[in-house]
Amino acid sequence: MTNTTKSKAFNAFEVAQSQFDEVAEQLALDATTRELLRTPIREYSFSIPIRMDDGTRQVFRGFRVQHNDARGPSKGGIRFHPMETLDTVRALAMWMTWKCAIVDIPLGGAKGGVICDPHNLSQFEQEQICRGWVRQIARNVGPVLDIPAPDVMTTSQHMLWMLDEYEMIHGSKQPGFITGKPVGMGGSLGRTEATGYGVVFSIREALKDLGIRASDTVASVQGFGNVARYAIELYQQLGGKVTCVASWNQQEQTSYSFLKKTGIDLKELLSITDRFGGIDKAKAQDAGYEILDGDGWLKQDVDILIPAALENQITGDNAPEISKGVKIVAEGANGPTTPAADQVLEERGVFVIPDLLANAGGVTCSYFEQVQSNMNYFWEKDEVLGKLDVKMTSAFIAVSELARKRKLFMRDAAYTIAISRVAQACKDRGWV
Ligand code: GLU
Repeated sequence: MTNTTKSKAFNAFEVAQSQFDEVAEQLALDATTRELLRTPIREYSFSIPIRMDDGTRQVFRGFRVQHNDARGPSKGGIRFHPMETLDTVRALAMWMTWKCAIVDIPLGGAKGGVICDPHNLSQFEQEQICRGWVRQIARNVGPVLDIPAPDVMTTSQHMLWMLDEYEMIHGSKQPGFITGKPVGMGGSLGRTEATGYGVVFSIREALKDLGIRASDTVASVQGFGNVARYAIELYQQLGGKVTCVASWNQQEQTSYSFLKKTGIDLKELLSITDRFGGIDKAKAQDAGYEILDGDGWLKQDVDILIPAALENQITGDNAPEISKGVKIVAEGANGPTTPAADQVLEERGVFVIPDLLANAGGVTCSYFEQVQSNMNYFWEKDEVLGKLDVKMTSAFIAVSELARKRKLFMRDAAYTIAISRVAQACKDRGWV
């Protein structure tokens, strides 16, 4: 699991709306378009009663928010998190709309969640939650309506249980209902790697813009879940060195940073990590890692910071502690930087690769998965990753060119392109 202690200090939806309002103003969007785009088009909040292993009943809270579907069926992951809120899901749904637009895939934005902690649930209980989530929403989601996917603390196994329930309810095989399925069960090769690799494709392009060789750079990473691992893997393949990784400690309910100045060994760290991304402190110490507090990762004197955990991690409070040497912040997580922190980074001239661009590899590969599922013909991994690179790189170039031309912060440039595309689709459909 990737997490930290401060994720609820901010209301993510307010952050998402203020980011939108600022760009809407710059784009001089009309009042109706603003009203439509600053709130979700549809939202569902429901109870999921399930039977626990000990025979008792428990009720979990589930959500699905569809922010906008003017460009195509809405798309986005489902998070399992004990601190999940409807407002967080709203923010994440809005960010999905912009994300799909920036990589120019024919999908809108949605997000789902369940308030639960998989650390404390058996596999069977998790299966019941997955099936219960689908039972509550089965008529409002689907291959041509709204397509879920994995996200924080959900896996391909969860997706398969959800698909199975959906197909049982509808009495037909509908592999396009959900993405992030296991390979061999309708999943796409490369989907697991896609988000992390996509982060590194965008770092590679940013380094080109800055005229720096990857092999001359050092990075520090927050999180050790799926996104972080594959970002580290590809970044190291490009010759970069990772010296610090922060991960959540479930027992102590806090996060720690693991520092090795000579560079972390990914395989070694993975061998002492639980299935939620928690690194074993004692074993890490034995392996020569220095243990720092949760924010330790962002105080490192590195070139690149990769926040790949949760939202609201780099804040106005801790941003001044970021080393002056940091040149790039690549947002593997959704919404890791608050507007106050953004200001600090902008003033310092840090090259921020915003979430909607940096971590768009996941949803882009989900789109490829849908295409393959619909054809019932699956591509080789190289083909998937090659197509992913093309999509990510062209999105990056469009954003960085606009940023350069109009002297915009990368986030503002990305939002400008994404929001214009969605606003245009709403206009073309005659909605506004
Ligand atoms: N959960 C991922 C994201 O936030 C992927 C969503 C998807 O594949 O639909 O982008």
